[in-house]
Amino acid sequence: SRDFRVVVLGSAGVGKSALVQRWVRGNFREAYLPTIEDTYRQALGCSHKAGALHITDTTGGRRYRGLQRLAIARGHAFILVYSITRKQTLEELKPLFELIRQLKGNNPQKCPVILVGNKCDESRREVSEKEGAAYACEWNCAFLETSAKMNINVQELFQLLINFEKKPAAAG
Ligand code: GDP
Ligand code: MG
Repeated sequence: SRDFRVVVLGSAGVGKSALVQRWVRGNFREAYLPTIEDTYRQALGCSHKAGALHITDTTGGRRYRGLQRLAIARGHAFILVYSITRKQTLEELKPLFELIRQLKGNNPQKCPVILVGNKCDESRREVSEKEGAAYACEWNCAFLETSAKMNINVQELFQLLINFEKKPAAAG
């Protein structure tokens, strides 16, 4: 099938579900509802191919490492989310990034990763934009700061993914 599976990963509370909800449903809620695993399917509108974008919204909890691993193994592209208000959440992405590379190989064209610093609407910042960009540079991946709350860069984030899907990896 032409389906394209995107996996959203990161620590609890960084706004993974909020980003997906903002894009899929166009809304935002303040209340925190812990996720175990949710999947969404969006038809790829203007694509002539019959395909869909599947989004797997994962949990950050350590108890669900097995689910995370399975989601990564099945994924085609990855959104790694931290919160700019908590440095620790950026550091916690490192083992996830390494697991992606371990399970999917080292070719960023074949297996795109986007690093996302969410909650950029917040003024109590612990991670500068430069610091986020430096991680992305080290990991050789794309980088965006977003706000699910204020709807900043959410369209851009998912558009990046859709562009990856339309532009399959070059041969070799
Ligand atoms: P998840 O555990 O990563 O799925 O996090 P959630 O999406 O459930 O969000 C956790 C909390 O952060 C909720 O209270 C959200 O309302 C809040 N939140 C999510 N995104 C943003 C954002 O962009 N800005 C702000 N200020 N709060 C956010
Ligand atoms: Mg969630």
